[in-house]
Amino acid sequence: MISASAFAGKRVSLFGLGGSGTATARALMAGGANVVAWDDNPQSVASAEAEGIPTGDLRSADWNTFSSFVLSPGVPLTHPKPHWTVELARGAGVEVIGDIELFARERIVRAPDAPFIAITGTNGKSTTTALTAHILKSAGRDAQMGGNIGRAVMTLDALASGRHYVVECSSYQIDLAPSVNPTAGVLLNLTPDHLDRHGTMQHYASIKERLVAGSDVAIIGVDDSWCAQIADRLERVGKDVIRISKRLPLTDGYFANGADLMEAVHGRYSRIGFLEGIGSLRGQHNAQNALAAVAACLKVGLDLGEIQSGLESFPGLEHRMEQVGRKGHVLFVNDSKATNADAAAPALSSFPRIYWIAGGLPKEGGIEPLRGLFSRIAKAYLIGEAAPAFSATLGEAVPYEISGTLAAAIEHAAHDAEQDGSGEAVVLLSPACASFDQFKNFEVRGEAFRQAAHAIKGVTPIGGAR
Ligand code: ADP
Repeated sequence: MISASAFAGKRVSLFGLGGSGTATARALMAGGANVVAWDDNPQSVASAEAEGIPTGDLRSADWNTFSSFVLSPGVPLTHPKPHWTVELARGAGVEVIGDIELFARERIVRAPDAPFIAITGTNGKSTTTALTAHILKSAGRDAQMGGNIGRAVMTLDALASGRHYVVECSSYQIDLAPSVNPTAGVLLNLTPDHLDRHGTMQHYASIKERLVAGSDVAIIGVDDSWCAQIADRLERVGKDVIRISKRLPLTDGYFANGADLMEAVHGRYSRIGFLEGIGSLRGQHNAQNALAAVAACLKVGLDLGEIQSGLESFPGLEHRMEQVGRKGHVLFVNDSKATNADAAAPALSSFPRIYWIAGGLPKEGGIEPLRGLFSRIAKAYLIGEAAPAFSATLGEAVPYEISGTLAAAIEHAAHDAEQDGSGEAVVLLSPACASFDQFKNFEVRGEAFRQAAHAIKGVTPIGGAR
């Protein structure tokens, strides 16, 4: 655990006692702070108390006695309206911060030379974070991974020089980290998301910009205009900016040319790596993720050989275009994390002949945005509440059946794919829907797909048991 010793002797209020909030309270206590923690849910308060975390109703607390207020990232800071604790903190002039800020302050005091790679963006954060940590570890570096993925940041191993921290940061976490200062900050991409919590796209983008603005080097994907403008703006004020692109040959930076990873220096190109044959990094979107990881790893001193071997051994993340099994020419791919049409597009773009399992609890807009990819779908197997609406969109364009359940869908899709004589056929679960009508969450849905695929006679599992 990392102790928040920068807060020693200070009185700190904390709201939100979920997993990361409890971990943060412990880190503050270990650092010698005098914590008063609270939550709107009495059960969370009771379990925190049982663990020895001091609690107190922050409505009746004297806010003038607090030097800082630590808020869980899940609690609204600005939109749709500030949480009541935020109003009270602001009224008393108390700073409002989160766990990434605690980490950043502690690093500066304890181990300013411990490499800190922070990763954000609308899509691809977890993949890029896991890939970067994997490459570092496979090169023999001491790499800690956490933040918005896996372990809460303050539960990572104690700060030490030479220990690398690879931290996924959501926009909510950055909003609570005013002095975040990574060695390398990565901003992958920006598309409208979470606007209920950030108000406007402008505000959402400005929060994400803060992460790279505070970095020693800003690694920015310039394939969308929001990020391209951020790169230009930071460069104008003298920031060290490294541009990456999944499709454009850049004058300076790193870009993908098909599956080749290229470096551009003043318009001269050289190949620095490749993704050909790496199943866990298929698709253009993964070229963006890989280029960001490569740029960050180069920044902390890895060589190209170490990076390439890390790319090649990356197992991928569960439920994101995860290859789970094969039977002859039929590949089974679990993309259960794709809970809307935008997130399903990369998987549909990555395979030419797809037996597509889709549906669940429908999201606004349905699958209309995927129309341009329909020609890749040999047949669709529709499940859950979205099935009637999806069948109406598919219409005459794509053969489909209403399978109803995931079990029926995978059985029929596997049978049809086996009959397909035109090369590799992919049975793909990429539902473009939330899971809650039939499953507890997307992880349970993906697990059900994996197990059903493995239960099919003749299927060889890929990736072993998880
Ligand atoms: P995040 O942590 O930002 O939600 P993940 O790495 O978990 O992102 O990927 C979630 C889904 O988003 C993937 O299944 C894939 O469909 C899509 N995705 C991943 N990387 C990118 C990217 N760079 N650009 C666009 N979409 C992506």
